[in-house]
Amino acid sequence: MRELFPIFKAHPELVYLDSAATAHKPQGVIDALTTFYADDYATVHRAAYRPSLKATELYNQARETARRFLNAAHWEEIVFTRGTTDAINLVALSYARTHLKEGDEILISEMEHHSNLVPWQMTGFKLRFIPMNAQGVLEWQGKITPQTKLVALAHISNVTGTVNPIAEIAREAHRCGAVLLVDGAQAAPHHPIDVQALDCDFYAFSSHKCYGPTGVGVLYGKRALLEKMPPVQGGGDMIERVELERTTYQQPPLRFEAGTPSIGSVIALKAALDFIEGIGRPELAAHGQSLLQLATEGLKTVPGLSIVGTAPEKGPLITFRIEGVHPLDLATWLDLRNIAVRSGHLCAQPCLRAFGLEAAVRASFGCYNTKAEVEKFVRLVAQGAASLLTSLTQQAQLARC
Ligand code: PLP
Repeated sequence: MRELFPIFKAHPELVYLDSAATAHKPQGVIDALTTFYADDYATVHRAAYRPSLKATELYNQARETARRFLNAAHWEEIVFTRGTTDAINLVALSYARTHLKEGDEILISEMEHHSNLVPWQMTGFKLRFIPMNAQGVLEWQGKITPQTKLVALAHISNVTGTVNPIAEIAREAHRCGAVLLVDGAQAAPHHPIDVQALDCDFYAFSSHKCYGPTGVGVLYGKRALLEKMPPVQGGGDMIERVELERTTYQQPPLRFEAGTPSIGSVIALKAALDFIEGIGRPELAAHGQSLLQLATEGLKTVPGLSIVGTAPEKGPLITFRIEGVHPLDLATWLDLRNIAVRSGHLCAQPCLRAFGLEAAVRASFGCYNTKAEVEKFVRLVAQGAASLLTSLTQQAQLARC
């Protein structure tokens, strides 16, 4: 698998454990991007010449692939966005602003990435929060009320790794008259996703975490909802008829894709989704679970280390802290030994604070990671912690002198 990723040819020593932030790109995805720019480049939807017709066809094929990837019922339910953040902002700016009224509430959770928190704060509607227990499992029962009009939750937390029971929550949200948006940024790269079985109303994910290019992502929305939503950006491509004083809009999804889109990136996203499907998401999930289990067992033996998030069902990532060791120091120490991990607030400050932390270290796994890499990582975490603690003790002694 590593051989399919040119980055590991350029940097054979690299142990990359930050796929939850962004994943590396296989040659096939890079080829799809460069082939489009080198051989097939043209705009979409506008022109009668053959290169443009071909670009439009490739663009439409990508939409069909994304539809299949999520098992959406209709291609019209797939909107290309700039990523998960952009998709959530689209729903906040379009759906929430036009379907919620004063007194209505938006329910999110304490574990959300800032992308699934700040856009809802910006709507000005009252927010309520589902708490987590000490394991990082949402205590959501009884939290959806008749005032709740929108529920927005991560499918998999980027901090605790918790897999949330989306189908169950969707049922309860609908029983109470609310819609459910799922932030699928951490689930899409590993987890089989069936938006019809989940019965969520919106589902968002980013290409770059799915081995695809940056700057593109997908918003799934149920057709009946998208049809009732106004566009949030005006411009080319999203219009039907424009007069000087007024405009009528295209049907979804084009209504939400104003301007020339990221054509090459969308086409390369198709290659990335094909890549994932080629391996198989059950296989990817099983690989992630075996690395997670190995890392969990290993890290548990490191003195002073506590794992943030111990839910029974987790995605392939593990967040932790070590008593007396600053996460940034450990991440830098590991980086000097070619191990890339994430450190800091993980774009989820309230989530970390719920565990009494301002920062932590996170290792996350992709299809290219191996058991040997995880073993090396665990070994070096133990060594790094010991070495950093020793130097801190020495510094304290020197300071006393
Ligand atoms: N939601 C979750 C759970 C994430 O982990 C991330 C990225 O780390 C995002 C949303 C935001 O994704 P993007 O920056 O691609 O929009």
